Amino acid sequence: MRVLGIEGTAWAASAGLYDSEADDVFIETDAYLPESGGIDPSEAAEHMHNAIPAVVDAALAEAADRAGEDEPLVDAVAFSRGPGLGPCLRIVGTAARSLAQTLDVPLVGVNHMVAHLEIGRHRSGFDSPVCLNASGANAHVLGFHDGRYRVLGETMDTGVGNSIDKFTRHVGWSHPGGPKVEEAAKDGEYAELPYVVKGMDFSFSGIMSAAKQAYDRGQPVEDVCVGLQETVFAMLTEVAERALSLTGSDELVLGGGVGQNERLREMLAAMCEQRGADFFAPEPRFLRDNAGMIAVLGATMYEAGQTIEIEDSRIDSDYRPDQVPVTWREDESV
Ligand code: ATP
Repeated sequence: MRVLGIEGTAWAASAGLYDSEADDVFIETDAYLPESGGIDPSEAAEHMHNAIPAVVDAALAEAADRAGEDEPLVDAVAFSRGPGLGPCLRIVGTAARSLAQTLDVPLVGVNHMVAHLEIGRHRSGFDSPVCLNASGANAHVLGFHDGRYRVLGETMDTGVGNSIDKFTRHVGWSHPGGPKVEEAAKDGEYAELPYVVKGMDFSFSGIMSAAKQAYDRGQPVEDVCVGLQETVFAMLTEVAERALSLTGSDELVLGGGVGQNERLREMLAAMCEQRGADFFAPEPRFLRDNAGMIAVLGATMYEAGQTIEIEDSRIDSDYRPDQVPVTWREDESV
């Protein structure tokens, strides 16, 4: 089976192809990089509008190379329905609907955050992991229970990556800020910042204000970067550990672009090792936004019969993971 996926929730105009027989994932991405400031929704949508046709063509060419004679190019088209920026999602939705109609194949509407989780499950072979999604616009911990991915803990304000990016904008660094913080932190000393976990939820806005104030007071930026990483990632690690404890699961997968950070992976791996749990972080191309994960989950949903009619396929910029009935899993809840 081959499924073509299209992703476009924010910065990544991406198309992918999942070939289930070869268990191979092709990804073509054209990234929107703001010239200054953060992601501007109308600029991001314009980028999506300009970039989607070429990345889809690349995925279709890959499908043509793999399709045998008289075989359809793909069996289904999957797309990110949300959550994300409405103007971007609308362009991707329109592209996916017209492609599915042109190719005369079913359409699959994928929840982007469930795709971040499922690519970790797919690549690791884990049965029923807890998932820490540490992405730009989100931060949450998910566990499977009673047919849905339940949000066990989440941010009470901004996403984890977005808050790091706000700090780096303040110090004059270009977007995205996460990799720059990681690099700068290699030369710094720990600077103390507030640690905010409430129950199973976290808050990042106060930490970012404190980080900006520390920088404005003259604290070396490298030290603030160390403080940011140690504080924010310890919060994520604490909630992930409590989710493992609460659910009894002994498997943790990581999702989202912030998951590319080596220090975060190191802290999660150490926590899992201490409690005898297995930890898996997908390779970077599957952590940041990408259409490969949309194609892979699209194939799973297509096989389970979870396709969608064109008239029901409107996008949902606030689409939560626990809104998705997980019909493709028969395993026990954690
Ligand atoms: P979402 O999946 O919630 O829609 P998103 O669209 O913003 O998020 P992602 O690709 O998941 O996109 O994550 C992008 C974020 O990852 C940015 O905020 C960026 O700064 C952050 N990031 C990228 N690399 C690193 C890194 N090495 N360390 C920390 N953060 C990083």
